[in-house]
Amino acid sequence: MTLDAPVATLGRIAEPQLAALKRLGITTIRDLLYHFPVRHIDAGSASPIELAQDGERMTLYGQVEKVGTKKSFRGKVPMGEATLRDASGTMKLVWFHQPYMAKMLAEGDFVRASGTVQKKSGTVTLINPEVEKVPALPGGVNGSLFADGGVPDDGRFFPVYPESKGVSSTWFYHKIQKVLASGILDTLEDSIPEDILKRYNLPTLATALVWIHTPRDVKHAASARKRFAFEEIFFIQLERQQSRLLYEKNPTFLITPEPESLMHFIEGFGFPLTKAQDNAIGVILKDFASTRPMLRLLEGDVGSGKTAVAATTAYSVVTTRPEGQNFGALQVAYMCPTEILATQLFESFIGFFVGSGIQIGLITGSGCRKFPSKVNPKGWTDISRPQFLKWVGNGEIPIVIGTHALIQKSVAFKHLAYVVVDEQHRFGTAQRAKLVQKDGRVPHFLSMTATPIPRTLALTLYGDLDLTLLDQMPSGRKPVKTEIVPAGKRDDVYAHMRSALAEGRQAYVICPRIDEPDPEKEQAMIARSVKEEAKRLKEKVFPNHTIDILHSKMKPSEKDKVMEHFAAGKTDILVATSVVEVGVNVPNATIIVIEGAERFGLAQLHQLRGRVLRGTHQAYCYLFSETKGEKTFERLKALATAKNGFELSEMDLTLRGAGELGGGKQWGISDIGMEAIKNMKMVEAAREEAKRLLSADITLASFPSIHKCLTERKTKTHFE
Ligand code: ADP
Ligand code: MG
Repeated sequence: MTLDAPVATLGRIAEPQLAALKRLGITTIRDLLYHFPVRHIDAGSASPIELAQDGERMTLYGQVEKVGTKKSFRGKVPMGEATLRDASGTMKLVWFHQPYMAKMLAEGDFVRASGTVQKKSGTVTLINPEVEKVPALPGGVNGSLFADGGVPDDGRFFPVYPESKGVSSTWFYHKIQKVLASGILDTLEDSIPEDILKRYNLPTLATALVWIHTPRDVKHAASARKRFAFEEIFFIQLERQQSRLLYEKNPTFLITPEPESLMHFIEGFGFPLTKAQDNAIGVILKDFASTRPMLRLLEGDVGSGKTAVAATTAYSVVTTRPEGQNFGALQVAYMCPTEILATQLFESFIGFFVGSGIQIGLITGSGCRKFPSKVNPKGWTDISRPQFLKWVGNGEIPIVIGTHALIQKSVAFKHLAYVVVDEQHRFGTAQRAKLVQKDGRVPHFLSMTATPIPRTLALTLYGDLDLTLLDQMPSGRKPVKTEIVPAGKRDDVYAHMRSALAEGRQAYVICPRIDEPDPEKEQAMIARSVKEEAKRLKEKVFPNHTIDILHSKMKPSEKDKVMEHFAAGKTDILVATSVVEVGVNVPNATIIVIEGAERFGLAQLHQLRGRVLRGTHQAYCYLFSETKGEKTFERLKALATAKNGFELSEMDLTLRGAGELGGGKQWGISDIGMEAIKNMKMVEAAREEAKRLLSADITLASFPSIHKCLTERKTKTHFE
């Protein structure tokens, strides 16, 4: 047996089970070994049946002997019944009104049951117990009647695995035991160097695998999880930092703006910069003045004015002459996630650059534009694609705005000195590596995001970027009035919406994502809840208004169309999932209603609310919650008090845990890796160790096991 062998090596596995495994991402023995339990059931708290005391709660382990359903003696109450045996005796389990509990069990099953004991005329019964199937009876707890097929004598903890139809925890337990017993552990190569394991007191790979699947002590399971969390963050850091070091080895462009002309440009904005903007511009200009290419992340809430920072720094680039030339200008590429955003940005840039004599180009799937037009110095004109490519190629158009395709497709720049990417998490290190120009130089790189994430996550995901925060809003901005709507006040909200719509405003209604383990089902449910709510609003609440829907299952072209209509004011109400989060600026939308608000993270709610922050009208955010708990209320209330999105994301992390940060999946981090995100010390340690190794050997060739593991990770992400 080898790690790369298919799971079928373990013996015949039926087709539906193979399919279930595939759904869970498991095809090889390695995948199976790395399918970690979500928790462990503690068998130590159980007691034998013979010690059952009337009226007491008890937990026991036993094997199901008989199971069935019937009606109670008066024939009214449906009930389920089972007999359970352990080494010391037998006991009845009874569920009143819950016959289905019995239907979930079969004769021969091993279960853990907890409930209240009733002793009456010689029979011992557990009333309405909770039951959970276990893979075997724990040995050494209630004697060894079931010794065959039981876990080792001192085994106390049963792993509970993420399941899928056809592959239960019990199934995983037995298969993984088989793998662990096969001797494969002796052949494993540990990808973390010994000295690092020692320094942080982490178990070796082989030990950690045993501990995570069959711990004999809760501390062992925790220690194993810590090791795997560290490993994941460590390798992400190695990858990001290595990519940064390699990028920095390339020569770049020296950018030397004239302070006076820059001041003049900023004066044209018609507003004073915030301190945070001023600081960010200063930091970027300092990077530009160095011989090393800049790699920087600008993080700022929606509306914090990132565009002005990008425009000012872009101005300093395009007013710098290419080295050894007394004509032309260095060039800027600005990339947005969608065509609509690129088009909106083009308009914003025209506002900033009008009168400067600097040309701006826009390239999208729908065609190319150039500002200014010959006839109108304040307007743009359509140009052909070949014309566009020619003018970018000879350096005549210095600022080019477009989508991701801008860099990938056939756009060749003459002197590309600065790349700005807006809200594009997928513009990763691999894409950036393609920015190397023909002459071997690389542009300065600025990534901008409004997605508020905690510092530990930022340090991990953007381990290759320096971080600058825009943690201040322009003054005079009216904050969004946020209200947690109490039960029974729904109609008041609709009445307010009606009057705002009558005044010509627009509104968003956001429906929650419903968490379902099966991703296909999840998608279906997202679509349905948005669709159903839109239908209900149209039929029952706003029959005289136009309502449109937007969700992630729609084609990009459909989504664009819906957004375009909404932006143009043709739709009154947009019912959407949180896909509406990133981006589009519709200043006329002043109300956002969020259904099932408790299902969203605080940072996410904050970002959704940012959608109505743009206009001059007072904006409102109404939160509806399905659970009425004190905790939910406290959490939602934080939205009104927190200073900014970063603060909220930190609160999310402490209040809800890393698993709730919108899920690691979207960041490419596993659930176990997300556990490390809670731990600043661990993230910092992983960073430091990665730095230390890379400074010893940037290629990592002298650390063969690390090198191998890193290459495997890269090929894997490459094919995803
Ligand atoms: P984001 O950070 O979300 O990209 P934008 O750059 O789109 O934010 O800015 C939002 C709005 O705020 C724009 O209309 C912009 O012109 C305006 N703005 C930016 N900076 C300032 C400022 N310092 N004072 C006043 N308004 C500003
Ligand atoms: Mg923006």
